[in-house]
Amino acid sequence: MEEGIFFTAQISGRERLSTFAAMAGAMARSGAASRPLSSLLVVTAALALAASVVGAADAEERDGVAPTLLISFDGFRASYLDAQPESALPNLNALWREGVRASLYPRFISKTFPNHYSIVTGLDEEHHGIVANHMWDPNMKAEFTLRSKGTEWWNEGEPIWVTASRADVRTKTYFWPGDEVVVNNRRPDVFFPYDSKTTFEERVDVVATWMRDANAKIDPNTRRPSPSFMALYFEEPDAAGHAHGPYSAQVEAAVRRVDEALGRLRDAVGDGPWNDTNVVVVADHGMAPLSPTRVVNLGDDACGMNFTSLFVTGDGIVAHLWRRSGPAEQNPADDGMTIDEARATARAVTACHPNVTAWAREDVPPRLRYSDNARIGPVVVAADVGYLMCGYASFDSKVRRRLNLDESSDLATARASDPANWALAHVADAGCAPACVGGDAGTDGDGVEKESDDSMYADECGGSHGYDNAAPEMRAVFLARGPLFRSDGARLVGELGYESSEAEALVGDDAVTSVGSVHAGTTRDAERWQARTLAFDNTVVRSVVATGLGLDLDPASVMPDGAPPPRVDGRLDEELVNLLFRDGVGVRSGPSGDGARGALTPDDDDDGGGGGRDGTARVAVVGVVGAIVVGAIVVAARGYVRRGDANSAYAKLGSVFEPGGGDAEETEIEMPEVRVEGESAGPRVFASLTEGDDGEGETSGGGTAARTS
Ligand SMILES: [Zn+2]
Repeated sequence: MEEGIFFTAQISGRERLSTFAAMAGAMARSGAASRPLSSLLVVTAALALAASVVGAADAEERDGVAPTLLISFDGFRASYLDAQPESALPNLNALWREGVRASLYPRFISKTFPNHYSIVTGLDEEHHGIVANHMWDPNMKAEFTLRSKGTEWWNEGEPIWVTASRADVRTKTYFWPGDEVVVNNRRPDVFFPYDSKTTFEERVDVVATWMRDANAKIDPNTRRPSPSFMALYFEEPDAAGHAHGPYSAQVEAAVRRVDEALGRLRDAVGDGPWNDTNVVVVADHGMAPLSPTRVVNLGDDACGMNFTSLFVTGDGIVAHLWRRSGPAEQNPADDGMTIDEARATARAVTACHPNVTAWAREDVPPRLRYSDNARIGPVVVAADVGYLMCGYASFDSKVRRRLNLDESSDLATARASDPANWALAHVADAGCAPACVGGDAGTDGDGVEKESDDSMYADECGGSHGYDNAAPEMRAVFLARGPLFRSDGARLVGELGYESSEAEALVGDDAVTSVGSVHAGTTRDAERWQARTLAFDNTVVRSVVATGLGLDLDPASVMPDGAPPPRVDGRLDEELVNLLFRDGVGVRSGPSGDGARGALTPDDDDDGGGGGRDGTARVAVVGVVGAIVVGAIVVAARGYVRRGDANSAYAKLGSVFEPGGGDAEETEIEMPEVRVEGESAGPRVFASLTEGDDGEGETSGGGTAARTS
């Protein structure tokens, strides 16, 4: 206790709270089981002191509302930033050192489109409906591919740019999955049809003009730049990770390349606008290495599953199995599989291989939050981390091309002519065994994953993702800097939850060396940091960005357009607010007792805000006190219960091939005209865009290659 008081005198308000919380948690863990009452008293006393100290926080804080830029570096695994010397990545590290660093849990499945949409909608995949890069909707009787832009696929969630637009905040996006889609009759004010050939430099230069423009628009009331939402997407280091694996020199080079892009952006923006912008760097998922020794051939005779009788969507990491009610070429799936049939099928598939797990949709473990959507197949099949499944010949058009069969030839007949019924699959599997020789398989000259027959399996040889979202390999980077965020270069470590006391902020050298690192920049150190760095659900990012934009996302509130904001799954709780944001920022002012969810609303009133913040700080502390006391009681009752069950429970999962299908007809619907702005937006801004102008004929052409996935 004395140590705690002595230490407290030397640190700021936020660290005080964390320190006391850590102390209380440690005490609860070490002694509470045997001496519950005394421990509880100690914890309570410590927190009472913490409350009194924090209640006196300075009043000069800013509310953090500013132009806010959300950047995604696809597949930027959390460990990548530690795997190279700090000097090799000067711009990413500067963002961290002038801001704050944590990491993100992707949603299951840890794929690109589902997670980009979770980040901007705040919803788990089962709730926003983009449950895979390749999926089947039994109600629409249609297949979703990376090119599907119909509203009906995307409107189960509301992306942040739509919510911001409803609040009259300007929105501009450069290649965020889903940004071309009309949702709730809105699209971003500026966006571009996806084109992987657009250079990183070209994207950055346009976004720099956005940032300068945004910061030139001064709100007459606050005399600060008006909020404005911007988003920017890069395909790397995902493409390099797929082709060469997460530990490759090529991935290190790709990470340096995006670091350079970030540096170019900062240089082009200039110090003033850069400092006045909230910059949030995220990724959709991490990357796990594949190996020729970790291939699961579901076509092996020993398995005995007749996959050709099923319709399969998904890929070699996670696949969905549907009943195939007709010939392979028509009516490819129906949703008529009963739960008993699904469970029997799941048992049979699980029995195929020790590193493959299948569940009936209703039986997917609740922690994966992957049951509640009709687009999730009756049977979900997942490979263990680092494993790759193949052997079910579901990707008919690619199999046809591989076998030089005419598009109209009957695959079912071809399969039936094979006594083992698996020859076709095994032909495809010739490429399934990863040819991990460090070649350029799966990428074009720009290092961007190409969509071609050759990539069917070869592009998966080096690395993949989609696995259990609790796996450390799947964790994604999170960096944030700007008026909203703490600026001491903290690395947040520990875990949030009812043992919230374990979360703390490391600053200075501790943020780099406290895992005992002597040789910075090694894979081993990177993985140790990856396991220790605090991770939170990527569905929280939406609320973080909304706070930067000054949006009130309290579901009880009414937005400027007269409707409430949509509900979200990600919860930006008091402790995360406290860890990520500047002191007092992001906390609702006003009378105490305003409720925890009020924390999402910044105080817009500069005058007299201090008193309100003090009041809210007390509310926050009361919340933390409550949480920790509850935690102490639970610990006392049950002994030390490890919180990280999720981390150790990801034992059984695996990897699947991106079919890159696109053969199914997509349903086009009538689209309203959208607002478009031409100013400083480069040559490809749409003017009076309607869906008719952007039909499949154009998008399936060479100019808009599929994203990496
Ligand atoms: Zn991705």
